[in-house]
Amino acid sequence: MLQDKDRIFQNLYGLKDPFLEGAKQRGAWNATKLMLDQGPEWIIEQVKESGLRGRGGAGFSTGLKWSFMPKEVKDRPHYLVVNADESEPGTCKDREIMRHDPHLFIEGCLVASFAMKAHTCYIYIRGEYIHEREQLQKAIDEAYAAKLIGKDNIHGWPFDLYIAHGAGAYICGEETALLESLEGKKGQPRLKPPFPAGAGLYGCPTTVNNVESIAVVPTILRRGADWFKSFGRPNNHGTKLFCISGHVNKPCNVEEEMSIPLRTLIDRHCGGVRGGWDNLKAVIPGGSSVRCINKEIADDVLMDFDALREHGSGLGTAAVIVMDKSTDMVKAIARIAYFYKHESCGQCTPCREGTGWMWRVLTRMAKGDAEMHEIDKLLDVAGQIEGHTICALGDAAAWPVQGLIKHFRHEIEEKITNYRRSPGQVALPHVAAE
Ligand code: NAD
Ligand code: SF4
Repeated sequence: MLQDKDRIFQNLYGLKDPFLEGAKQRGAWNATKLMLDQGPEWIIEQVKESGLRGRGGAGFSTGLKWSFMPKEVKDRPHYLVVNADESEPGTCKDREIMRHDPHLFIEGCLVASFAMKAHTCYIYIRGEYIHEREQLQKAIDEAYAAKLIGKDNIHGWPFDLYIAHGAGAYICGEETALLESLEGKKGQPRLKPPFPAGAGLYGCPTTVNNVESIAVVPTILRRGADWFKSFGRPNNHGTKLFCISGHVNKPCNVEEEMSIPLRTLIDRHCGGVRGGWDNLKAVIPGGSSVRCINKEIADDVLMDFDALREHGSGLGTAAVIVMDKSTDMVKAIARIAYFYKHESCGQCTPCREGTGWMWRVLTRMAKGDAEMHEIDKLLDVAGQIEGHTICALGDAAAWPVQGLIKHFRHEIEEKITNYRRSPGQVALPHVAAE
């Protein structure tokens, strides 16, 4: 278990002063100049060495991503863009960083920008995060006033930091849609490649990172890559913010060691599953965009990228949604399907048409108003969406449906059987028309 002293975010619950004085007492802005004095290559090597993988959901190596940026600034400026559009259902970790530890994050923006030779960083914040924007702006103003950032700052790297406020579209959390939105256009994903490191904001070399990925960097550099690497398993290192919600006794956000067993995480920090561990039915371990797991897997699984992938799921944003035996799994996944239908930007046919189709079929299935063969048809359509779209929203819509059918097919079948047995129900002429 992670000791309190090892936690990077010492003010996760906002019990202490979030602003400059309090942040400095907790270690923020300590030896920042020394870090920059080591040079960009050293910083990138340390981040690579630490094993830090992107905390926004995809888990791509942060140091490797930084190394994709051109080594020298030529004709175009470099940019760092921080994705603070935290909208993945169940996820509320970046929110706490911006509310309660904004200076660690701002320091991370400076250090990361320096490493990638960017003089400007934009933070794209979720539209609904009004209080978070205000807290962050207040901290940014403090940092400017103290000359920690700005054109003429004490660290010797001219650096400006701006907040851009989103307008409530989930798809603007997809990095290229975010860049489009930042440029003032409709937030729709671009085809990749080119990746942002080659052609990002205004066509310039850009790195897009998640808030948590950036906020942990100064502490990694202060304590050393080996310290960070000492947590978790090979290829899955460090500490991690987990957001645990649903049918637990005490939902919470907590920073824990990567690779902690799921059961330990829930028992230790959430007072266990409502009604006891045996009352557990399913868990969505990484935000709504991953396949759920059943109790059998949850009994032993470790909370890291590779362990969850082995079970066909994923760590995603580490938003753990716990569902006990009272949960109607078909209804729950139908609700998630509605979310993706609503948030699809409509650019590609499989996503635009498929998300709505899956939602409509699941809504019928939740009542039992379906035919048995439609379960395989649903699985087939989910497979046709997965991997056939411009961005990951298509996959994100398909995976929960695949997880439902893999682990809880019997619940759909029961509903269909019961519906057909109920008085007055006949064959369903409209089904073939779907
Ligand atoms: P991805 O795997 O396509 O990319 C991850 C990152 O690595 C990107 O920044 C990408 O530019 C970079 N990258 C990957 N391959 C590269 C290459 N060959 N060259 C250069 N750069 C490369 O994933 P994604 O579409 O960015 O993210 C999907 C994830 O986002 C999902 O797993 C989901 O969990 C998560 N998500 C998070 C939220 C949230 O609120 N935090 C919301 C929705 C989705
Ligand atoms: Fe838009 Fe969906 Fe295509 Fe992504 S997959 S670009 S959200 S239509």
